[in-house]
Amino acid sequence: MANVKFHSGKQLPLEMHKVRIVQKLFLPPVEERRRLMNEAGNNTFLLQNRDVFMDMLTDSGVNAMSDLQQSAMLRADDAYAGSETYNRMVAKVREIFGMTYFLPVHQGRAAENILATAYVKPGDVVPMNFHFTTTKAHITRLGGSVEELIVKEGLEPVNDCPFKGNFDIPRLEALIAKVGPEHIPFVRIEAGTNLVGGQPLSLQNMRDVAAVCRKHGLRLILDASLLQDNLYFIKAREAECRNMSIREITAEIASLMDIIYFSARKLGFARGGGISMRHREDELRMKELIPLYEGFLTYGGMSVREMEAIVVGLDESMDEDIISQGPQFIEYMAKELHRRGVPVILPAGGLGCHVNATEFLSHIPQEQYPAGALAAALYIAGGVRGMERGTLSEQRNEDGSERFAELELLRLAMPRRVYTLSQVEYAIDRVEWLWKNRALVGGLRFVEEPKVLRFFFGRLEPIGDWQDRLVAKFREDFGDSL
Ligand SMILES: *Cc1c(COP(=O)(O)O)cnc(C)c1O
Repeated sequence: MANVKFHSGKQLPLEMHKVRIVQKLFLPPVEERRRLMNEAGNNTFLLQNRDVFMDMLTDSGVNAMSDLQQSAMLRADDAYAGSETYNRMVAKVREIFGMTYFLPVHQGRAAENILATAYVKPGDVVPMNFHFTTTKAHITRLGGSVEELIVKEGLEPVNDCPFKGNFDIPRLEALIAKVGPEHIPFVRIEAGTNLVGGQPLSLQNMRDVAAVCRKHGLRLILDASLLQDNLYFIKAREAECRNMSIREITAEIASLMDIIYFSARKLGFARGGGISMRHREDELRMKELIPLYEGFLTYGGMSVREMEAIVVGLDESMDEDIISQGPQFIEYMAKELHRRGVPVILPAGGLGCHVNATEFLSHIPQEQYPAGALAAALYIAGGVRGMERGTLSEQRNEDGSERFAELELLRLAMPRRVYTLSQVEYAIDRVEWLWKNRALVGGLRFVEEPKVLRFFFGRLEPIGDWQDRLVAKFREDFGDSL
């Protein structure tokens, strides 16, 4: 957000853009929402988008493009090999990260597949601040394992730690001493730590990790998918960076890394991805995998139109006015909910506002999926679609028992440049109404439970008649309102 003060003293996040293309939204009446939620097996992944008023499921591939991105798409140079679009993309990534080599991939997890295939052997250990679902899946698929070394504050719902995504450096040292550097193919830093609520690392912490890696001759890889939010937080919260530009901070971070990969569904406001490398050996090692898994070396499975949008989107990711909007909307939402007594993760991170379902629905036992129940209840209460990030998102243990998540969260993601502040106010209002009526909300149980990725496809039903009572209370409080 630009430095604009309000005369009233009230400080609101201010959109530094205007909307020129719109999409009509529909809000079905509460009785309909209840029926639709049950048709979707009480799983927000199975709702149809046409039935959703505010889609806060994710910020992946759903951010609004700018006029400059749309116009750049028209000049896409469609060639199987050697297209000008590819040259423009390489030049832009080089300009921003300052690394010589670049390989295109179709999205973030594809980069993870290439990296894991190139470097991970059975028995290897990959230290990281925290795992991401697809990262871990690729490493374990190849017989490796993941060690999560996030600082302990990262897993506490509320504290005032400004960098909850930081690595615990002594634990990193201890792990290297224990397993030996020869069993560590790389160390991975995840900017804007996704699964702990979009929490950032500091520049200083990244420097400390890099120093440890250099000492032991270890390769350091940055997952920059959520770098945009992390850059904003570094500038806002790290004293030494206050007067640096976003580009300068990015260059400083990149100078510490051997490899940087990203999902352009997030970084770059489009769809695609890439791997940027400092050393020729790394390029040679991964290059031959690209035509095998992705596409020819000059498009890597991406459409040239999306590549043009990424080139412009990466520049926009270096613009403080543009990247501050997401975190500031999220902070506004988290603070407003907190002010009204609703338990949320604090300080707010990037990605979205995270509601603490353990505390919100403390009467629902973990085996009845409080975060999943809250997601279903919020859709019924307001047509707002969030994502469960708790026990439902875990896989059962080998013996069939539940593996309980450390945090039960309802994630309300904030797609960039998509919703207005009054829509955010509406979501806050409905969450607060649910909070006041939380005693009415009950648990869920599976009726169809897939063995893998059950949170994507599983179907559940409410335990008891709580949804009838919730709808009745809605009518009592809101009359004939939608
Ligand atoms: C989304 C994400 C990925 C995977 O990217 P996709 O484009 O969805 O495959 C990897 N790492 C992080 C941190 C992410 O947030």
